[in-house]
Amino acid sequence: MEVALDSYLDSLPSPSLYPRLLCCGKTSKFYCPSCLKLLLPPSQPPLPPFTLPFSCTIISSDPSRTSTGVHLKVLSPTTTTLIPSPEPCPPYDPRTTVVLFPSDDEDNPSVDIKEIGGVERVIVFDCKWTKTGGVRGEEFKGYKRVHLSDDSIKYSRYWRWHTFGPSMLCTLEAVYSAAWSLSEEREGLVDMFWIFGMMRKSMGEGKGGKYKRGVVRGGDGRELKPFEIEYKMKMEEERRQEGGERQRRQREDAKQAKLNKKSKKIT
Ligand SMILES: [Zn+2]
Repeated sequence: MEVALDSYLDSLPSPSLYPRLLCCGKTSKFYCPSCLKLLLPPSQPPLPPFTLPFSCTIISSDPSRTSTGVHLKVLSPTTTTLIPSPEPCPPYDPRTTVVLFPSDDEDNPSVDIKEIGGVERVIVFDCKWTKTGGVRGEEFKGYKRVHLSDDSIKYSRYWRWHTFGPSMLCTLEAVYSAAWSLSEEREGLVDMFWIFGMMRKSMGEGKGGKYKRGVVRGGDGRELKPFEIEYKMKMEEERRQEGGERQRRQREDAKQAKLNKKSKKIT
């Protein structure tokens, strides 16, 4: 699964071959964020048609350009439904619909997606579950919950750092993992990463300095790109150290406050 994904991402053409194109009164690269149409210049070959092997409903709190759920809607419009939160989700058949949400809740624990048959629709949350699930948990209670199999994608290829660490997948990667588990026909599943891959490649061709943290170098002195696992590991380490430093300062402040209090008592 991961080998197929990495070789696909590596095989994509240079994004510079895809200029910005006019649609809905604005120019955009790869797709139009207003009408969600794919934007390919006539000089480039059409993409192989891609259809998800199941219907997918994406509940999104962030329907912006950064949402990878939108890529799915552009590439597989007939099988993808985007629902901006807090709009209500239409009722689906609970016998064939599952919610992708890991849970050890006693009343409704999630099961491995591989172990569930007859799935026709997968509901995915394109946002933190704590945000949406907390508010909308009731609405999705009637569906079986599933979690991704252990052999799913191990670390994210997304170019943004995720606070919860490199193993947190973006929506597209989670749907890909689910499709891999549910489908026998796996060839061509990677095609769902075309926009993702092209945007990622555009980042890769940019200068490292434009990232918030400036240039980050790997063990061999090479400049790392934000989507590389080594970059993410370094960020995680930095974050941990910053956290440690913050805790140390807080302890010192607390000590000082105590001393201040004491000295007040003396006087
Ligand atoms: Zn448009």
